[in-house]
Amino acid sequence: MDKLDSETPYLLQKRGISRREFLKFCTVMAGTLALPGDFVPRIAKALEQTKRPPVIWLEFQDCAGCTESLLRAHSPTIAEIVLDVLSLNYHETIMAPSGFQAEQSLKDTVAAGGYLTIVEGSIPTADDGVYCCIAGRTALDILEEVASNTAAIITVGACAFYGGWPHASPNPTGAVGVKDIISDVPIINLPGCPPNADNITATVVHYLTFHSLPETDDLGRPLFAYGMRIHDNCERRGHFDAGEFVRQWGDEGHRKGWCLYQMGCKGPIAFHNCPSIRWNEGTSWPVGAGHGCFACAAPYFWERPIYEPVDIWEGRTPPTTYAPAEVPAAAWQMNVGLAAAAGAAGLAVGAAAGALAGQRAAKKGSSGEEEEES
Ligand code: SF4
Repeated sequence: MDKLDSETPYLLQKRGISRREFLKFCTVMAGTLALPGDFVPRIAKALEQTKRPPVIWLEFQDCAGCTESLLRAHSPTIAEIVLDVLSLNYHETIMAPSGFQAEQSLKDTVAAGGYLTIVEGSIPTADDGVYCCIAGRTALDILEEVASNTAAIITVGACAFYGGWPHASPNPTGAVGVKDIISDVPIINLPGCPPNADNITATVVHYLTFHSLPETDDLGRPLFAYGMRIHDNCERRGHFDAGEFVRQWGDEGHRKGWCLYQMGCKGPIAFHNCPSIRWNEGTSWPVGAGHGCFACAAPYFWERPIYEPVDIWEGRTPPTTYAPAEVPAAAWQMNVGLAAAAGAAGLAVGAAAGALAGQRAAKKGSSGEEEEES
């Protein structure tokens, strides 16, 4: 990667971002990536000295929720991401140019090569892909051209992962994910509906620091973000173990923060770091807010009834019939492949702890007070 002409120190200074704030960001990134604290200087050096990679962000069949998630990134803000970490050359929703100028920017970036490609949304394949066209070209054509000269592809969200909601039966547009079309380029998947912006940023930071994509599970999802079972890190887990369940929305158990398993929570078979990194500046996450997880980072999650409990054991009366340590592959077809990922449970717990430690260290460094434990 080109280490000349880095603009990062100048841009940090120009935007009034102090050295302390910059190192706080690097600490949070190390924590999110489940790296020890002594990697913080290496991350800082990489971000300061490595020339910003060009990025092409493609948006196909989607609701723009992934972009919305990115726009709400708190560490760094979208302006910091765009100006200080990435050189976002093409993004239909937030780029300044439009029309021919926008398409020229895309064309120039592809010709130069060496860029990262981020894909949001599914790709329609029915009827030669006519159901999603941009500037007179199908999403299929655009993706194949952009993939032909890219260094790597990062898919964000459920749609670019397995087709998402557009893929739901009867899938009239023939929607598929990137992996169904592109096979000769490194691809890493950051599913979720939407994905967490901190995981997007951390993946890019890993790429800048180590010049490679993070280690992944069998589904191509980075282990630092998808190697941990939600159920094992949930603040309501004690109520699950005690057999204290919400039985109806608004009942006494709901008001007391009891376990949402009986209300359809998919946390026991979902793998994501939501409980540790959370959302909205680390404020909360769906289960914390009182709604069950619906495993939005799993393939085909949209086909599962959201409010039906997952079948993870016989009897469903814990703790006497306790949940199995590993998820049987047949327990839930959409989680095929995750049983292997469950083998990384030890890593998952370490990753969660690392993420929390990093975030706490960063908060403590800036405020002198430790973050409240979830
Ligand atoms: Fe948390 Fe859901 Fe597991 Fe209950 S079933 S402990 S709410 S993840």
